[in-house]
Amino acid sequence: MSGANERSPRSEVADSTFFVDRNAPTNDEVDLPKIEAAVRNILAAVGEDPDREGLLETPARVARMYAEMFAGLKSDPSRHLAKVFTEEYDEIVLVRDISFCSMCEHHLLPFTGKAHIAYLPSGKVVGLSKLARVVEEVARRPQVQERLTQTVADLVESRLSARGVAVVVESTHSCMTMRGVRKPGSLCLTSAMRGIFRDDPKSRSEVLGLINRQS
Ligand SMILES: [Zn+2]
Repeated sequence: MSGANERSPRSEVADSTFFVDRNAPTNDEVDLPKIEAAVRNILAAVGEDPDREGLLETPARVARMYAEMFAGLKSDPSRHLAKVFTEEYDEIVLVRDISFCSMCEHHLLPFTGKAHIAYLPSGKVVGLSKLARVVEEVARRPQVQERLTQTVADLVESRLSARGVAVVVESTHSCMTMRGVRKPGSLCLTSAMRGIFRDDPKSRSEVLGLINRQS
């Protein structure tokens, strides 16, 4: 983020400690050499020379990328919702435009977009950034958008004992835009409604109105 010439007086060590994100998902079980060997095989299989200069470091780079993209595979996203606060507030809480990048499990191509999470508390609220943490972590697995949407809704409903949960996800799938039918600009929308937002049409249209409001 900051360039070398705008370095603060903090030492290198302090800097790296400062930027460690203790909540970021990690997956130490990823077998990097195995991915590297596989990527070399793919390159050879498509007719490339994995030993030419430009490709020499590609397998290692791809291995690290997969480790990052799938870092949420072995972690439990519900831990982000463990700390809740008791609040009298009983109106809708909505966090819109949580951006995410996930990997379509059918093609191992990215799909990127935004998630919107609304819930109706029943005496318990959670830090707003924690909802973004949940999306981030659930996204970092081989995924389909439908499951991502439902998983987030189920986690929020169960962990917060929310009276209602609405999750809407909109994203663009690389496997739709760059291969196959090649439809750039196509948007995939999914939603998961729980509790009162599923059962009561009036509450549902209220929450969808908030999610879709132009502002
Ligand atoms: Zn796909």
